[in-house]
Amino acid sequence: MSNSRRQLLAGSATMATGALVGCALPAGAARSPQTPFDVAQASVPIVGSDQVFPVRRIYCIGRNYAAHAREMGSDPTREPPFFFQKPADAIQVVVPGTVANHPYPTLTKNYHYEVELVVALSKGGRDIRAEDALSHVYGYSLGLDMTRRDLQREMGDQKKPWEIGKSFDHSAPIGPIHPVAKVGHFADGAIWLKVNGQTKQSATLKHMIWSVSEQISRLSQAFELMPGDIIYAGTPENVGPVVRGDLVEIHIDGLPNLSVKIV
Ligand code: MN
Repeated sequence: MSNSRRQLLAGSATMATGALVGCALPAGAARSPQTPFDVAQASVPIVGSDQVFPVRRIYCIGRNYAAHAREMGSDPTREPPFFFQKPADAIQVVVPGTVANHPYPTLTKNYHYEVELVVALSKGGRDIRAEDALSHVYGYSLGLDMTRRDLQREMGDQKKPWEIGKSFDHSAPIGPIHPVAKVGHFADGAIWLKVNGQTKQSATLKHMIWSVSEQISRLSQAFELMPGDIIYAGTPENVGPVVRGDLVEIHIDGLPNLSVKIV
């Protein structure tokens, strides 16, 4: 047998083995192309499980509380809430009972907190009806939609995209995800934020203009939702600035508090 014939046979054997291995893998995994380097999948721990929740997209709802819409200079009776996104790897996981160091970002002199309910989806879809929407929810957490307010405003004034103000590295601190089976759904209950022990934001979830069901339903008209999508449900009024050294504590009734230190 010639060398080239031998190599060809060896190659076919490898391919055959690969095909067999491929058959043993779940559908999808077998089709994954090889990559020249690894890219981390953003994920969030799931409470009471060894599994993690893989984050596909982070959607955020803007101006979902009337009083916050007014403080941002808009009229909530005339302008409905709206959507924007952060990159999935903007996630910063914060473990309850610890204080996570949150880096003060570059380029801003007016860095703001926004405490928010976070909704994690296990089912996707298009044009989801509000009455069916909650069956798409895997669980809930709480988080911060951190904002370079000066850059957000500047870009808004210039009618430019506001990613630089909202969608930067580490801009989405979040706690572990609590499955719906354990905590139920969130329509009411206190939501608050303290800086250095002083209450800054304090409201209830029932003041959301779009409920969680409406958020999912409306988002699914604009985007096909997928498992792994999470939604930051908007912040109540009294957003404000932090500086290095500040300790930020956030709370939603029914979830453990989270703390971050701005460093
Ligand atoms: Mn927000």
